[in-house]
Amino acid sequence: MEDLKYQIDLLTALNERLLASEKMYRHIAEMSGTLFAYFDYKCSPVKVDLVGPWDDMVGEKIANHPYDESYMLNLLLDEDQDKFRIHMLEIEREGSETDSVEVRSRNKRFWLSCLANVTYDDEHKPLEKIIAIKDITKIRMNSEELEYLAYYDSLTGVYNRNYFVRKFRDMCELADSEKVSVEIMFVDIDDFKKINDSIGLLFGDELVQEFGQYLKDFNNDETLVGRFGSDVFVIAVYNPCGSRSCDVIYRKIQERLRHPFTLTNKTEIMITVSCGVAEYPDAGRTALEVIKNAEIVLYKSKERGKGGIQYFELDILNKFIRNVSIEKQLKEAIETSGFQLYYQPQYNASDGKLRGAEALLRWPDPEGEGFITSPSEFIPIAEKNGAIIPIGNYVIKEALKTMSDWRNKYHIPMILSINISAMQLEKENFVDSLSREITLNGVNPESIEIEITESVFINNFEDVIDKIKTLRGLGIRVSLDDFGTGYSSLSYLKNLPIDTLKIDKSFIDTALKDDSSGIIYESVIQMARRLGFETVAEGVETKEQFNYLRERNIDIIQGYLLGKPISKVEFEKLLIRQVP
Ligand code: C2E
Ligand code: CA
Ligand code: CA
Repeated sequence: MEDLKYQIDLLTALNERLLASEKMYRHIAEMSGTLFAYFDYKCSPVKVDLVGPWDDMVGEKIANHPYDESYMLNLLLDEDQDKFRIHMLEIEREGSETDSVEVRSRNKRFWLSCLANVTYDDEHKPLEKIIAIKDITKIRMNSEELEYLAYYDSLTGVYNRNYFVRKFRDMCELADSEKVSVEIMFVDIDDFKKINDSIGLLFGDELVQEFGQYLKDFNNDETLVGRFGSDVFVIAVYNPCGSRSCDVIYRKIQERLRHPFTLTNKTEIMITVSCGVAEYPDAGRTALEVIKNAEIVLYKSKERGKGGIQYFELDILNKFIRNVSIEKQLKEAIETSGFQLYYQPQYNASDGKLRGAEALLRWPDPEGEGFITSPSEFIPIAEKNGAIIPIGNYVIKEALKTMSDWRNKYHIPMILSINISAMQLEKENFVDSLSREITLNGVNPESIEIEITESVFINNFEDVIDKIKTLRGLGIRVSLDDFGTGYSSLSYLKNLPIDTLKIDKSFIDTALKDDSSGIIYESVIQMARRLGFETVAEGVETKEQFNYLRERNIDIIQGYLLGKPISKVEFEKLLIRQVP
């Protein structure tokens, strides 16, 4: 009796322990987020035990359903049932985890990762089977998203930069083996900054999106479309021929751009785009080189105006490489003050007396005799990258120091003309710093003339006019340089508060050769006189030109005939001769 009670107690205790551990296992299964099904084939009918968060996964209480495989399958869309069954059979056979399977229920898409473990008897009949199913939909979705982001531009849906470059490289490799070429075209929205400023960043994005989606339609097996930057797209065409080429795409884009893009706020926007095209392997040895060169010619296309297309040319590349090298050397020259000023004399046409000089910048070669390059090449580069500001400051300081020296040494009344770039004049403190420098050097403001070109009026006419008026109020003279090369209309001249008009060399070069140019030259001189401006003829090289100009009452003559630009020391020799 005692024995039996002991046995019952022992069994109860064991049972309790079993129940407790079963509870623990169920708990663990629940927490793991994995669905388990245990099949016991030894029982008849087969006993199935479900463990894990089945209810959550299926979306209904399934504990009451007797589980069988068809129940599970019926939860899926008809067309996915076979797929799932085959997948399960495969993993039962393989006995290991295979790739996940994508299935759909009536209202959801799942990614399931499945495991199976089957034990067999000697006759290879299954004894037991455990399957484990994990819902990895979230992980899959994230990685799909990541995959998308890795390849595509999220704003427009075209390839992103990295992936485009990869695919373009592959294309070039294939082109090598098939002995064909690949074209690449940069497509860049003109004045995109201005558009952004006027419609706002958000609508700017929408515009890029609209345009990108339009370009995306060109994408196919032989044509890649990608986005490299805010408004920069690239299109590559494999083995261009016939109607399949960047040129044709360019023309189609032009056609599309005749109509505006309509944004969600109903704004209609017209845009133009500039394009640059280069071809592999003609325009570079590697895919990357060709991409770089297409970008370089894009900038050339922009320089030439909006809406254009520019094809790769070796000259453009060489010029670009030269400019980059000049830019680098300019930086060094600024740091080491490696510049110098030359002075070219100007004479009164009537009595041949020295009127003064124009200060002209020189860039001596520190290693050689001559100059690195002429200001007509390096000044435009300096104007583009902002280096003109420190360079211009040097010119002002140096010119005024020279004027101060000459004044103290020779006491000859003369005017020194200093070239001033638009960017310098636009600086807030330009007037103050120039007049401070004049005072500092004890120079008479009336002996200083600044030379500006018409380009200074492009951006903010009113502002510039105000500055010029202030300068003239201080006694400083203002001269309009290169007249005849820009927009030069005689009618706008009358509104300009200037003292001197410098007529460009190109005028005198043609005036003697052809009558109509001569007539224009004459009327410019007359008009300028009537408006009260002093006239200067630049680039006078021959006696014939000199006489012609004097007969037409030009005031001042500057040019190689009377004197080339010379160093300060050389110019002083000329001044000594002037001293009475
Ligand atoms: P620019 O202001 O029109 O200067 C006149 C240019 O014509 C000078 O060239 C001068 O040397 C050249 N020249 C003068 N007489 C003759 C002639 O009879 N025949 C020929 N063929 N040329 C003549 P340079 O010194 O090479 O300067 C070129 C341009 O670089 C200048 O044209 C000016 O735009 C710019 N530049 C020069 N120095 C400065 C500077 O200090 N500041 C700024 N912002 N620009 C400068
Ligand atoms: Ca000048
Ligand atoms: Ca000039």
